[in-house]
Amino acid sequence: MPTTNSLDVISSLCKRRGFIFHSSEIYGGINGFWDYGPLGCEMKRNIKEDWWKTTVRNREDVAGLDATIIMHPAIWKASGHLDTFSDPMSTCKSCKKLMRADQVWDILADGEIGQGLAALIVGGVDAGKVAGWCKGKAKGLAPNLAAVRDADALTAAFEKIKADPAAYADAQALYVLLANAKGSQPAVTPCPYCGGELTEPRPFNLMFKTVVGPVDDPANVAYLRPETAQAIFAQFQNVQVTSRQQVPFGIAQMGKSFRNEVTPRNYTFRSREFEQMELEFFIRPDEAVELICGTVTTMADSPDLSVPQASWGWEVWHKYWVEQRKAWIQACGLPKDSFVEYWQKPEELAHYARACVDIEYSFPFGVQELEGIAARSDFDLTQHQKHSGKSMEVFDEPLKLAAAKLDEAAKAAFTAKVSAEWATRGKDAEAARAFVAKLFEGKYVPHVIEPSAGVDRMMLALLCNAYEEQKLTDEKGKEDVRVVMHFSPRIAPVKVAVFPLVKNKPEVYNKAREIFGHLRRRCAAFWDEGGAIGRRYRRQDEIGTPWCVTIDFQTLDDGTVTLRDRDTMQQERLTLDQLKAKLEEALL
Ligand code: ATP
Repeated sequence: MPTTNSLDVISSLCKRRGFIFHSSEIYGGINGFWDYGPLGCEMKRNIKEDWWKTTVRNREDVAGLDATIIMHPAIWKASGHLDTFSDPMSTCKSCKKLMRADQVWDILADGEIGQGLAALIVGGVDAGKVAGWCKGKAKGLAPNLAAVRDADALTAAFEKIKADPAAYADAQALYVLLANAKGSQPAVTPCPYCGGELTEPRPFNLMFKTVVGPVDDPANVAYLRPETAQAIFAQFQNVQVTSRQQVPFGIAQMGKSFRNEVTPRNYTFRSREFEQMELEFFIRPDEAVELICGTVTTMADSPDLSVPQASWGWEVWHKYWVEQRKAWIQACGLPKDSFVEYWQKPEELAHYARACVDIEYSFPFGVQELEGIAARSDFDLTQHQKHSGKSMEVFDEPLKLAAAKLDEAAKAAFTAKVSAEWATRGKDAEAARAFVAKLFEGKYVPHVIEPSAGVDRMMLALLCNAYEEQKLTDEKGKEDVRVVMHFSPRIAPVKVAVFPLVKNKPEVYNKAREIFGHLRRRCAAFWDEGGAIGRRYRRQDEIGTPWCVTIDFQTLDDGTVTLRDRDTMQQERLTLDQLKAKLEEALL
């Protein structure tokens, strides 16, 4: 269990030990951009390599892709990003700050104003105390709030609170009152930074724009990709043909994405430049499965999700990927009870999506999305087919053979059944008939399940989860606090640290260098010859190094070294071969 719920504690350790720095720090930093230091970049690389190994290398049904960040702008028109990838944005008419309109109350709660108000109303709202706050502290904190600027507004607020204190028993309700006590029409949403009036929200497209080539002309505008997924759809045919994969199969990609987030916040959680690990797993439409297998397995059949089956419909594939992703998250070191599945409600789903699950982790600032797994139907490939004029259909031999076995009556019955089912989803009969006619030729546009994860969010969750402050008492009864990061060995930035017991005895020192040389060829190893062994252990505990190896005089006699375990602090003596075998087993 992590022993801090403070993002400040985590971020200060990350800066002090070289995990994460604010980008461009010497120039005052740039909001929403973060650099990963020596340990951070090792850890991030471990997360990505683990994802790649699990998602691509260890499977026979997934191929990889590494596409460019800037792509043809038509891709973003087809995907819908140009028209709809926006957040509602408001501006404060007084302090001019921009913010996401749907985050105003979160910003208020996190900030000094919200916390001041929350403290003020503990035990009940008192009109006198509120008036005192408006005339005192609020003059510095929220100078543009109506009740702070305007004596009449304060008097009106005072009367309203006296008449019904319970109505203002939470900070948000009280703040709204202090902005609107005189009955402003329409009601003002107060700025969470200064109390000024916010503008009506308007959509703000999150894509970063740039210009390709030397001429700064609208015709040359391009965008930094806001997600890695679209390149997978755009290259679908090339990858499918060259990898000789047949549906069901997936294409995976990881890399940088960029979103001009209106209010980047919560450390690296919402950044403007971040990395994603995305898989598009292409499946047969359920109608094709039915023709081939005579049935479609749904979750109502309680299927065994361990080995994919040809009869699985989209619902089972979706659940399969939810389980696969949860297993990976756990294998990286997040305990099962630290994250939850949030199944989006039908009214929250995009119009083309059939289901979407967010995996949410309990971050110090609340339960928030770590990654999402969406069943996106054939929307993406169909859009690119429409906009590019290039076919995104696949030919499915087993489907053609299955359809060839049907006589005309069976084909007509199947067509009628599909049309009726499509009608329940508001799709017209003509489209259903055209779709089924293609199925009988063995052709369709694949549907897709999309597990989409963020590297930075995963890393932040692992950092928060790993942190522990342990109170220790030594043999002399002296108390001490040990900070230890309990990273799983596969994610830890340094796997093993090597210490010579003494540095002024060449035999011990050289032996230690020799052993260090052996270990660093196998995994990320760290050399430390400075200070007492106990101090060296503590330095490694704080960066989560699972093992420390000390070379001493006994090593010269019998070839054994002392291996110290980070979590138990137990020590054992092992030969070099035993040590290598132990590391190999733990890191494989
Ligand atoms: P949110 O609702 O938190 O903005 P989203 O639903 O827009 O996230 P997706 O578009 O589904 O996110 O992106 C997939 C994953 O990419 C997210 O689950 C997250 O891990 C990561 N991600 C998205 N936006 C950011 C960001 N601004 N900073 C860091 N990671 C991000």
